[in-house]
Amino acid sequence: MKIISADFKTTATAPAGWPAADLPEFAFAGRSNVGKSSMINKLVARKNLVRVSNQPGRTRTLNFFDIRLEELSGARHALRFCDLPGYGFARVSHSERASWRKMIERYLIERQSLRGVVCIVDAEVGATSLDRELMSWIRSIPREAVVVATKTDRLGKARRKPHLTRIAKQLGTQANAITGFSAIEGLGVDEVWSRLLELTGTTSTAGSTAPGSENDS
Ligand code: GDP
Repeated sequence: MKIISADFKTTATAPAGWPAADLPEFAFAGRSNVGKSSMINKLVARKNLVRVSNQPGRTRTLNFFDIRLEELSGARHALRFCDLPGYGFARVSHSERASWRKMIERYLIERQSLRGVVCIVDAEVGATSLDRELMSWIRSIPREAVVVATKTDRLGKARRKPHLTRIAKQLGTQANAITGFSAIEGLGVDEVWSRLLELTGTTSTAGSTAPGSENDS
């Protein structure tokens, strides 16, 4: 798997600012500081595409990134990531939190090109009540959830499987439906990509124009 390019596309709050729905898209959701920026950077093999921050809650907008990649077979794909604001950040006002929530829910419900939501949990901490709430809501819309437990490097090898099994139970999903990930060790990168490509439901773009032409912006 080779990343040909990974570029910031745009930032949006309201639907009018969403880019045209012309590429298969994946949203990344997780509570603040879960390791979402590090995961996206690792997936696209870039150090700083998304700023890794120690200041949780700084991202307050939907941030879109365009990615082109080539599989070992030579098949090429073009797709888009949407980095959602981290949730559960304590130091924001109630009304601000409500307005982010509205922005995110609207995007997740209405976005036509959205193929799945990568739901990120902390492998060591486990699924929090907010993680559980998000998961059951995503199932209810319904959208495909790709559950990834990150920071697995913090767990000794013997503890990894039991932790993933526990998280699966907490989220009411199958243990083998959760991918263990580590931005530090590079664990899980291929697995997440194969799941995303499966969900694009598209064949190779063969380096030419991308599939889909609907525009919901
Ligand atoms: P975000 O707020 O969800 O975007 O999280 P960041 O990617 O900014 O990461 C938050 C903190 O967790 C940073 O200090 C990262 O260095 C650390 N971190 C992120 N991913 C991993 C990982 O896979 N393993 C470990 N050990 N730390 C990580």
